[in-house]
Amino acid sequence: MYASDTIVAPATAPGVGAVAIVRLSGPKATDILRAIWKPHYSGEMEPRRMYLGDVIDPDTGAHLDRALAFLMRAPASLTGEDVAEIHIHGGPYLVRRITSLAIARGARMAEAGEFARRAFLNGRMDLTEAEAVADLVEARGEAALKQALAQLSGVLAEKVRGLRDKVVGIRAHLEAEIDFSDEDIRLPSRREMGGEIERIIGDAAILHDSFARGRLAREGARAAIIGKPNAGKSSLLNLMVGTDRAIVTDIPGTTRDVIEDTLQIGAFPLTILDTAGLREGRDEVERLGIERTRRSVAAADLIIAVFDSSRPRDSDDAAITALCRDRAGIAVLNKSDLPQRLSVAELREKGPAMPVIAMSALTGDGIAQLHEGLARAIEAMAGPGAESEIAISRQRHRDALAQALRALKAARESALKTMPPEIVAVDISAAADALGAITGEVTSEDVLDKIFREFCIGK
Ligand code: GDP
Repeated sequence: MYASDTIVAPATAPGVGAVAIVRLSGPKATDILRAIWKPHYSGEMEPRRMYLGDVIDPDTGAHLDRALAFLMRAPASLTGEDVAEIHIHGGPYLVRRITSLAIARGARMAEAGEFARRAFLNGRMDLTEAEAVADLVEARGEAALKQALAQLSGVLAEKVRGLRDKVVGIRAHLEAEIDFSDEDIRLPSRREMGGEIERIIGDAAILHDSFARGRLAREGARAAIIGKPNAGKSSLLNLMVGTDRAIVTDIPGTTRDVIEDTLQIGAFPLTILDTAGLREGRDEVERLGIERTRRSVAAADLIIAVFDSSRPRDSDDAAITALCRDRAGIAVLNKSDLPQRLSVAELREKGPAMPVIAMSALTGDGIAQLHEGLARAIEAMAGPGAESEIAISRQRHRDALAQALRALKAARESALKTMPPEIVAVDISAAADALGAITGEVTSEDVLDKIFREFCIGK
């Protein structure tokens, strides 16, 4: 499927840089390049080779830049169409000027993601690979990078296609039941079919449940720092992030807004939310802060609960402990540099059911143990085999798998109840479509292909 129009867009980020790339894709890409850029080399331009030349405004003859350019010919290109790239000097004005030249010569400004979309429509990549490109660009840590690269290499697409092929195989058997019920063809029994669907359900469920790990790798974990006012939450955040990002004061209840920062813990990014103190506030603003604490606890994967070891345990600490119930995280017993009124033993006994780390946010003593504890907590959430197994990382994948699972379960039920093949086929088709939606290959042609391949009908 080829688009009839030619698109143009800067391929590099806006702003000043050493180089900026203006990219063209479509049938006029070569002609437009030829019109606005003149190679110093007089021979025929070979595809996929860089040439030096000058960008010239064809209307005025004005020389705009000295730039490298290359061509890729359809279908062996980024988008599957003719593609041209001009690598100009990285000034925002130059980028605008040269993009405008291309538009004046018949190109249209590309929409967001349109190059990738054309690549998908032209079969250069499936949807999961297109998503992997976006993930690679956005990767904020090693785990995200590895996952995006694995997905880009097509392992997820392969896995999903494998599942879908099996579903389509069942559909083929059902079609045969419909079309050739009078003929003497050996078809799988409904019990066999139910067993096969059960196995597919098992595999699809594993993939569906890999979302927690995949999301963790792609987006990282979110931790909420909670604790009563003056426990040292802002000081701890500052220490962890290494800046004076949050305002530290002696007046209780002054951290009014949720402050977010991201740091690297092992292979995973960790976004930390610092919240207002949890104490029944005297004024409206403070009460909002408390509400926010509850919300950020709900939104967080991990809790960093801060307790002040220089003061006896009180009802505020009990309230914090209550918020930590059934949640993963770390209890930080802060202010280890001051005379101690709350011990590690007492916090272990009466505080949250979490590992306890004694430290000082003021001196930095114990910060390494906190990092280690957080790394362990994140690894535990990621689960075993985090490095090697294929994981889905997007809600879209999870929704499609959930839909496929629902349809497969319904199909299994009706297959075992020996419902007519048409009825079972409805759910089986819905499951195939849901799986096909993940990679973007939903077509009914392949059902027919399967029938002919497996049964050699008409031979
Ligand atoms: P928050 O209300 O929980 O955010 O607490 P802050 O981070 O604003 O700290 C309250 C006060 O305790 C400030 O005066 C900090 O300097 C002080 N503080 C925080 N952590 C420590 C610590 O580990 N040791 C000592 N001595 N003081 C600390």
